[in-house]
Amino acid sequence: MTADVTAGRAADRAVRTRIAPSPTGFLHLGTARTALYSWAYARHHGGQFVLRIEDTDVARSTQDSARQILDSMHWLGLDYDEGPVYQMQRLARYHAVAEQMLAAGSAYRCWCTPEELDAMREGQRARGEKTRYDGRWRPAPGKVLPPVPAGVQPVVRFANPLHGAVGWDDLVKGPISIGNDEIDDLIILRPAPEGAPQGTLGVPTYNFAVVVDDWDMAITHVFRGDEHINNTPWQINIFHALGAPLPRFGHCPVILGDDGQKLSKRRGAVSVTAYEEAGYLPEAMLNYLARLGWSHGDDELFTRDQLVQWFDGSHLSRSPAQWDPAKLAWVNAHHMKRADDARLALLTQQQLGRRGVAVDDLERLTRAVALFKDRSATVVELAEAVAMLFAPATPGDEDLAAHVTPAVQPALRELRTQLQATPWTQADIAAALKAVLAAHRLKMPQLAPALRVLVCGRVQTPSIDAVLALFPRAVVLARLQAV
Ligand code: GLU
Repeated sequence: MTADVTAGRAADRAVRTRIAPSPTGFLHLGTARTALYSWAYARHHGGQFVLRIEDTDVARSTQDSARQILDSMHWLGLDYDEGPVYQMQRLARYHAVAEQMLAAGSAYRCWCTPEELDAMREGQRARGEKTRYDGRWRPAPGKVLPPVPAGVQPVVRFANPLHGAVGWDDLVKGPISIGNDEIDDLIILRPAPEGAPQGTLGVPTYNFAVVVDDWDMAITHVFRGDEHINNTPWQINIFHALGAPLPRFGHCPVILGDDGQKLSKRRGAVSVTAYEEAGYLPEAMLNYLARLGWSHGDDELFTRDQLVQWFDGSHLSRSPAQWDPAKLAWVNAHHMKRADDARLALLTQQQLGRRGVAVDDLERLTRAVALFKDRSATVVELAEAVAMLFAPATPGDEDLAAHVTPAVQPALRELRTQLQATPWTQADIAAALKAVLAAHRLKMPQLAPALRVLVCGRVQTPSIDAVLALFPRAVVLARLQAV
């Protein structure tokens, strides 16, 4: 007998999704992507999206990590309707459910010590068997349980069904089913602390707390990484034991790094906030992450609203996606072009601040951003491009020697004189340039590189008259003084 998939039941309820990160590190890209799918699915269906912080791994959970996760969600614009709900604040609820299960016989206490469990596995390995809990504390009619040892705090285990199969129709992977004889009795509550009074219940494990929460929060659809696929049969069995309606599950394949290996802390996996620092825009990150593992026809570039409109849980990819920094930069460059100049100016101001370049004149920065954003893939590149307007430019000796040659120096000197008097607009600067070129029988490609090197400290810039107009006149005159 395959356990009921109850897809219909999930479909009958108002859509509620959640993301449930563990605060044991930063919000990594895989979790950000499943958060994005969960959020988009809820928004697409006019449902609700819940943020839950799974902090029952007390030794590894930190407040700092929880705060970083909230910051990342905020940056990506993944607004949630409920939460953050912290699991450690719900211990009483897990204990109440565990008590009910103990009373109903779907859970039982197990006093095995870690040494006993090691010996159990050792024996199984030696006999060539699969290692698993052997059910020695599982009550059964007529069975005599071992004597309760003194000084050992028991765990609580789920009495997994012994027969039949458990299955579900995965939103990503299709139908999955596994025999219950493959699954052992999962620990649902860890031991109470040493010395706690008898009967004290411990902290829940992930697989138990997740079910109680998904049930209490009326979650209808769970998107998560496929590293959890092996946990789902246990969770479904616990849902059944509780008489709780099942959500639908969608397990997304891992994200691979450039080297084809799973992204990990050691292999290129960085936090979502690191991309903010590196000058990526949240809408670009959202676009890139969503597309990594999901498709809508041939669309590569889309907005947040289009994602919400299109994301109905179909077309999720079954095969692992590969992280492609070059494509992310391309997607970001597209969103940079579309971004509002005033907003980009503020982001650029922050990036310049990090480089020790203080900018007070936001109006001038906004004009600069408008001119340079089309050729910058990230806000960091944009900041680097416009820094010369607000901080000294440092031309390289080679560039000076190559471009500021005796052939153009007289023209540069005359231009400097002209620029002292000309009205400070792009058109007037262009007219002054034209006049000087004519008088010295030079062409723009001869003079412009010299001007760029002296004023901007580099050979490449957008149209030189537009760039010069962004500087205060006094700065241009001072930088041309060197000729
Ligand atoms: N805390 C789990 C994780 O971060 C949540 C898994 C789930 O969504 O059920 O992987």
